[in-house]
Amino acid sequence: NIEKANKQGFTIYDEQIAGKYRRKSMLRTRLEQAISRQELRLVFQPIVRVPVDNSRYYEVLLRWTLDGVPVPPDEFIPLAEQSGLINSIGYWVLDQACQVIRHSCQCGQPLMLAVNVSALQFQQDEFVPDLHELLERHQIPAALLQIEITESVFTVDKNILIDKTNQLRDAGIAISIDDFGTGYSSLSVINELHVNKVKIDKAFIDKIGQGGMPVLHAIASMSQSMGWEIVAEGVETAEQVQILTAINIHYMQGYYFSKPVEYSSLFPFTHE
Ligand code: C2E
Ligand code: MG
Ligand code: MG
Ligand code: MG
Repeated sequence: NIEKANKQGFTIYDEQIAGKYRRKSMLRTRLEQAISRQELRLVFQPIVRVPVDNSRYYEVLLRWTLDGVPVPPDEFIPLAEQSGLINSIGYWVLDQACQVIRHSCQCGQPLMLAVNVSALQFQQDEFVPDLHELLERHQIPAALLQIEITESVFTVDKNILIDKTNQLRDAGIAISIDDFGTGYSSLSVINELHVNKVKIDKAFIDKIGQGGMPVLHAIASMSQSMGWEIVAEGVETAEQVQILTAINIHYMQGYYFSKPVEYSSLFPFTHE
């Protein structure tokens, strides 16, 4: 009896692994066709200034709907990175974002958009030339486009990093370090880079009121002396807003203000 149960246990385990593997390879295949099948779209989450001003500043977040079912970015972005598809997908996202910015300028309500860029795409030789080409083709000011890179970028060769960030500075495109505090940031490297902002990861915001203040204070004062602007990510409560404001963190993003919204909500007063 026991033997039978064990055997069954192993079978179930094997099937779980096999199932995961099958899903991965299915997703990888389908992701190759996702752009041409128009299964990808962008949503937009406001980054607000507190006290609220009238700026229009959003982060661009990618969505994939496969056979009517959403596949979360935390599942498909790693697959896209493993297969190298991230370069074409990342270019598509930037191109779409630039189109949105152009449209916003044309209707007199300019938007500033921050686009997430994978470390893999960031280190490509074509990355900065591609950005120049996009700004030129869509005829938009560089100041309206920003990029977000996570700390995984710090695994890239230091000289390449310094080079790229300088090129972006020269191009007038601001850089944020996303999910700051959770990854591989090396203070000696980050010190040599041109960085405009850090986005404090939600994990730190969640700990406000649970002993998380010392670290938050430390990040805030380091950012101040480094000349980085700070954005707090994943802000969900009024209490968090009040405490962040009190320690001079004025840019915030999170469900307390808004979940990501569809394109149509960006231009409520125009009908096309
Ligand atoms: P991220 O760039 O750090 O984006 C923040 C994530 O937190 C988003 O999840 C957003 O919907 C979610 N979020 C925002 N506010 C709150 C909140 O108050 N509470 C909670 N629980 N969550 C909140 P999403 O859209 O699922 O994206 C996950 C990650 O996938 C992103 O993290 C980013 O690293 C990656 N990603 C998304 N779009 C792209 C893209 O176009 N290119 C690349 N390379 N990565 C992307
Ligand atoms: Mg981001
Ligand atoms: Mg983040
Ligand atoms: Mg993240």
